[in-house]
Amino acid sequence: VGGSLCLDFLNTADSHDGAPGLDALAPGYVNVGSWFAHAGVLDEAALKMLLRRAAKEPRDAAAVRKRATQLREALYEIVTSLPEDREPSPESLVTFNGELHHANAAGAYVAESRRLEWRWHDERQLDRVLWEVCGSAAMLLSGEGMQKVRQCASPSCQKLFLDTSKNGSRQYCSPATCGTASRVRRFRERQRIAT
Ligand SMILES: [Zn+2]
Repeated sequence: VGGSLCLDFLNTADSHDGAPGLDALAPGYVNVGSWFAHAGVLDEAALKMLLRRAAKEPRDAAAVRKRATQLREALYEIVTSLPEDREPSPESLVTFNGELHHANAAGAYVAESRRLEWRWHDERQLDRVLWEVCGSAAMLLSGEGMQKVRQCASPSCQKLFLDTSKNGSRQYCSPATCGTASRVRRFRERQRIAT
């Protein structure tokens, strides 16, 4: 839906302001791992390995899950502030920069077929899924792509996406769900006014 790993990661929560809603990263690390497998970041073998490790180290796994939601809410605040020319809170920037620092320390470029390729030192770390998000977020937030970030026009939806339509006119995260719901709502409003 989002068009970038970072935005899809933000869309794992229905609500970012405490309103009730689904959270794909809760309640446990197993949800975090499964979401990243669904997003194509982890293959089957990597997911199995991480879930085995999480079962053996439940306290570490819970800490990573907590960091995942903290990173998500920090990034949400940053991503929704920048287009409105609002300064993101220092706390959000500290959270993001801290995780990005971890990610940068967790890998290195190595030579591979006439170019450099980024490799993680140890892919068995439980927080490696967060490193991937940080890479995607750093590219999005500091690049041209930021100009294409939109929030769904449905009042009950906080989903974010990259508007890659030719004329930059995409309004809804999904035309089939939020787009249709809004059309139905407008139709009912017109009917109410007419009667
Ligand atoms: Zn929507």
